[in-house]
Amino acid sequence: MEQFLPAGPFAMLPLAGGHHTSIVWTEPSDRVDFYMNLSEERFTEELQLRVGDWLGDVTPVAGRWSWPLGLAHAERYIDTRLALVSESAHGMHPIAGQGLNVGIRDLAALAEVVVDAIRVGLDPGAPDVLERYQRWRRTDTVTLLATTDALVRLFSNDIKPLCHARRLGMAALNNLAPLKPAKQFFMRHAMGIVGDLPRLVRGEAL
Ligand SMILES: Cc1cc2nc3c(=O)[nH]c(=O)nc-3n(C[C@H](O)[C@H](O)[C@H](O)COP(=O)(O)OP(=O)(O)OC[C@H]3O[C@@H](n4cnc5c(N)ncnc54)[C@H](O)[C@@H]3O)c2cc1C
Repeated sequence: MEQFLPAGPFAMLPLAGGHHTSIVWTEPSDRVDFYMNLSEERFTEELQLRVGDWLGDVTPVAGRWSWPLGLAHAERYIDTRLALVSESAHGMHPIAGQGLNVGIRDLAALAEVVVDAIRVGLDPGAPDVLERYQRWRRTDTVTLLATTDALVRLFSNDIKPLCHARRLGMAALNNLAPLKPAKQFFMRHAMGIVGDLPRLVRGEAL
């Protein structure tokens, strides 16, 4: 479950076993030290405020870690006998929980172009082989970088007209039949099951 609070998304990700949940809590950079340094008691109060009563009383059981969030995109994913994958090539906001999935698609695509090249007797590190990998992966990545960045901008602010537009848009997306395909497309994209998927991601052998 994810809430879009003015400071940024606040996500609760259930862990195996049923009674623990991982929390991704976004705050502006200048507020991070404040939350990181709160006493356990005050931190629990702040946490409970955001979680609400949805999960009953919450108790932090693990440490707190903070990471600066930013958008990063390498100009090139390849160089001489070198290919960048996952976050060495791109870093996106975790708002849609896509970073790891995109990285796995990179690895699967790279494995596929390398194996295809070897099969036909080509050098797997040759520029045109790596170029195929770069072309393949940039489209998917740029789409997700743009989408996650737009979602952050749309949801992480409390400018009144934008709030109204956002509420209307979400209601329309949930209730208007003609918009159902758009919603389904977005969900399928987030699940990583649309587009030109590498064989490994489709569950096929290389
Ligand atoms: C708060 C948060 C929530 C997220 N939630 C989700 C989610 O729900 N779903 C999702 O799909 N993705 C999510 N992501 C993104 C996901 O965590 C990343 O996309 C993924 O971990 C990237 O994997 P990676 O192997 O490229 O990089 P990393 O996981 O960062 O691994 C890189 C490793 O290299 C090590 N390293 C760095 N420099 C050096 C060095 N010089 N020498 C040796 N080792 C080095 C690092 O210590 C690290 O262990 C989230 C990210 C954040 C920050």
